[in-house]
Amino acid sequence: MTRVPPLDRLGRPLGVLRLSLTARCNLACPYCLPDGVEPPGLLTLRQRLAVIEAAVALGAGSLRLTGGEPLLHDGLEALIAAAAPLRERGLREIALTSNGVLLSAERARTLRAAGLQRITLSLDGTTGESVGRMAGAGGADPGERARRGQVLLAKVLAAIEHARAAGFDPRRGELKLNAVIQRGVNDDQLLPLAALGRERGLELRLIEFMDVGTRNGWQPETVLSAAEMVDRIGHRWPLEPRGRGAHGTASRWRYGDAGTGGSGSTGGGAHLAVVASVTAPFCGDCNRLRVTADGIAYTCLFAAPGSGLDLRPWLQPQPDPVGLRQALADRWRRRQDRYSEERQELWQASAPQHPTTSRHAEMAYLGG
Ligand code: SF4
Repeated sequence: MTRVPPLDRLGRPLGVLRLSLTARCNLACPYCLPDGVEPPGLLTLRQRLAVIEAAVALGAGSLRLTGGEPLLHDGLEALIAAAAPLRERGLREIALTSNGVLLSAERARTLRAAGLQRITLSLDGTTGESVGRMAGAGGADPGERARRGQVLLAKVLAAIEHARAAGFDPRRGELKLNAVIQRGVNDDQLLPLAALGRERGLELRLIEFMDVGTRNGWQPETVLSAAEMVDRIGHRWPLEPRGRGAHGTASRWRYGDAGTGGSGSTGGGAHLAVVASVTAPFCGDCNRLRVTADGIAYTCLFAAPGSGLDLRPWLQPQPDPVGLRQALADRWRRRQDRYSEERQELWQASAPQHPTTSRHAEMAYLGG
């Protein structure tokens, strides 16, 4: 019998499972601020696989492995290898989001061999100072911050090439770069980051600073809008709009001089993308389910702490596939999250307070 995938109350299907493997991170980026504490009762590989199987059965074609920093998780390759056969049941891609600091050449090869298809690395600047500041490295001492940032920058730049050498081809969208841009903090890095993406033939995805979690000091005036980012970069290099794909988070632009081979050209058609969660929300077709490292399912990045569905009753002592699928389907059918749209509606009504949830679960816990 063919099962009909559930739709939420706003008619949205489940398409993406963002599975967090750890709440720990090796960085302390101020926009996320992990507390470095792992929640008790981390799921086992078998339990995680049961969650993935259930999500795929309900329509999720994309598995995005995340953290905290997922490369801190020893069982990462084993989980990828265990999930890879689910391609026969509708899983189209297995992707990883990482800060890249721990991505050695060997690790990139083992991840590829296990079945990983896509990596998105994070880099929020191109100088030691900017990278150190955005990674929360070096404390208040500017010299130490720049020195540590330089070390991190070198590691991430090397990680890009390790991933490429392992077979992650940016021309097929298998290797991308994420950067969070905060007005007055690292917006001076916009053009250098764009230049880096062009030089290396990578899609750079610029992400608006968001009010995730409760610790990042977010204020509306700290947001540099995606439109302004595109405008600034478009003044330097010609950009052609490519739009936002169905259920995607990023609006894409193609460099008008792509592939011309001239001085400073992308040489291979690198794209620019912007994620405008704050100024141009895309809740209308949001299809993402998040499951934390300890097995709590959330249906929005901005969910309130404690509002998730604890999946462990269907995972312990042994996974109960039918019960788990039913519980997730029921939760998805009750979903009506549209936080970013609500935030924007309040702004447009000149009421700059936070909408429905004034407290959000932390980003390092939810998986970004
Ligand atoms: S605010 Fe929530 S519902 Fe809207 S796009 Fe983000 S995660 Fe999806």
